[in-house]
Amino acid sequence: MNTDPNCIFCKIVAGQIPSKQVYADDYVIVFEDINPKAAVHLLVVPREHVVSLADLTPEHDVLIAHIMRLLPKLAQEQGLTTGFRTMINTGKGGGQEVFHLHVHLLGGDDLRGIGF
Ligand code: IMP
Repeated sequence: MNTDPNCIFCKIVAGQIPSKQVYADDYVIVFEDINPKAAVHLLVVPREHVVSLADLTPEHDVLIAHIMRLLPKLAQEQGLTTGFRTMINTGKGGGQEVFHLHVHLLGGDDLRGIGF
């Protein structure tokens, strides 16, 4: 599996940097964002180092399907009964700050009309 020793999310995956982890399986770990933008703000992070959405290949199809199916389950577990927001920033121009693919899962507040 591809990893990057200089990547902060790879270090979190490896347990070298602490995180408030809420879920883990063979494909991903999920932890609380350190700078939450909503009452619930989780990051779904593949164990494998993939830089961004723009770097996915067909080999990642199972991973991506897994993440998409996991997101509503996580939202349900977090009690986000009225809905939730998912967000993927891609590249500098897309606001990506950590160059290890991740999906933001946000909710717990009424996010109607609120942009990030
Ligand atoms: P991006 O802008 O989509 O790349 O989002 C990166 C996110 O990672 C931001 O929301 C940061 O607050 C979050 N973040 C950065 N470092 C850490 C950390 O060490 N633990 C948890 N979240 C982090």
